[in-house]
Amino acid sequence: MPDFLLPDSAPIIVWFREDLRLTDNPALAAAAASGNPVLPLYVWEDDPADPFPPGGAARWWLHHSLRRLSDALDHLGAPLLLRRGDPLRVIADLAAETGAGAVLWNRRYATAGRVRDTRIKETLRSRGLRAESFNAALLFEPWTVRTKAGQPFRVFTPFWRACLAMTEPPAPTPAPARLTAFPRPLPGSSLADWHLLPTGPDWAGGLRETWQPGEDGARERLAEFLVTTAAGYKANRDRPGMEGTSRLSPHLRWGEIGPRQAWHAARMTAHAHPEAAAGIEAFLRELGWREFCHHLLHHEPGLAHTPMDARFAAFPWRDDEEGLGAWQRGRTGYPIIDAGMRQLWHTGWMHNRVRMVTASFLVKDLLIPWQSGARWFWDTLVDADPADNPANWQWVAGCGADAAPFFRVFNPVLQGETYDPRGAYVRRWVPELAALPDAWVHKPWAAPVKVLAQAGVRLGETYPHPILDHAAARDRALDAFRALPGRD
Ligand code: FAD
Repeated sequence: MPDFLLPDSAPIIVWFREDLRLTDNPALAAAAASGNPVLPLYVWEDDPADPFPPGGAARWWLHHSLRRLSDALDHLGAPLLLRRGDPLRVIADLAAETGAGAVLWNRRYATAGRVRDTRIKETLRSRGLRAESFNAALLFEPWTVRTKAGQPFRVFTPFWRACLAMTEPPAPTPAPARLTAFPRPLPGSSLADWHLLPTGPDWAGGLRETWQPGEDGARERLAEFLVTTAAGYKANRDRPGMEGTSRLSPHLRWGEIGPRQAWHAARMTAHAHPEAAAGIEAFLRELGWREFCHHLLHHEPGLAHTPMDARFAAFPWRDDEEGLGAWQRGRTGYPIIDAGMRQLWHTGWMHNRVRMVTASFLVKDLLIPWQSGARWFWDTLVDADPADNPANWQWVAGCGADAAPFFRVFNPVLQGETYDPRGAYVRRWVPELAALPDAWVHKPWAAPVKVLAQAGVRLGETYPHPILDHAAARDRALDAFRALPGRD
């Protein structure tokens, strides 16, 4: 780690962004090791030109995560300063106010943020401040993983193989035991003034019930996953009706835990419990997908809006407000789709298998552009991530890197029957179907009238008729795909 001893013991600003933790936080560790006063700073950059400001669920998470971080920094002796506005101006003003000699941060990878960070670093340096950035968010930085020909990878499996052949990511560093505080209080915003929480109707009850934002919550979730779920991960990760995955995604998204921490803790568990090794290997591979998405974003700055496969620019998408609304509200008449969309609305999270099936339904059955779905996920997911979200939408739509081919259209009934065979997931999120027998829970329209009556289901009243016929929609999608210019 570089030596940040500044000759005059000038304060060091640590600019927190998507690294809301104390452990394995290289920018904070470097500042702490200097012995100089540390000024932890978070800037609310409500930039009207930002094409992707945090959505509603993400703002809820950020509010609580900042509160936890602020408490933890108070405990270390250096309170978190909150300021609002253009980060360059905020940082330059703070440096002038305090005589700070250095600004340290951990890198972020979204295109707009990266461009802004480069400009900020250059400007601060030109004004005589030290400005340094570190890697807290990834196991392998995107520019370090290359094909033999020196090109970025476009296919996951060789990408991950290349990552695994690299030097193992360094072990996480501990949180600083103590920070030297700046000697006088500084004026800052109050978190409440940023109105990150819903101001109108309180839709966040399900989020509060489901999550514990913050570093402690993240650490507990990882520990619990490794003890209780990891061994069965490989077998259960596709079962939305079970607690079969880690649910670490929002914690990783906000940097309340870093991938190096997850990596090393998982490897230690596999070492101590060989019976969990296969599950852990599968889990590490999913962390690999997260790395791959960041790799793609780094090399494809237009990932959020432009199909990587340029042929898809000419795809005949439909403008279907009604279909989009039914999908968003979980009222399509396809139980697995509706369960997923309601889980998302209620908890800010959706199981990965169901994310794939709901996304496929939007893009292929409804022929609604993937960007519309990605926008809805962006607003409703607590883990909404500028790399993972668009990369996965493009993957499902068939226009991304290593994409699922367009002609592979998920059948929502078969997906439900295969991955939620007893209907536990559907019953949990679509309670109006709870009393249907297993055989009909994924296709209530096919159930005998008597069975529906016994289960209290009145199609078109208590639960919608399907908004489309999947077989016909599939044919329509394939016709549209076949008409694309230059299709293989
Ligand atoms: P686990 O199965 O426990 O996996 C561990 C970690 O690996 C996850 O926390 C996540 O960081 C990473 N991971 C797992 N699967 C993927 C994947 N397919 N791509 C990238 N990283 C992965 N994930 C997000 O974090 N943010 C998003 O905005 C997001 N949008 C998605 C949109 C669509 C259409 C799809 C199909 C997937 C999306 N994912 C996104 C990926 C995945 O669904 C979630 O990461 C996963 O469901 C989170 O649950 P978990 O933490 O229990 O995952």
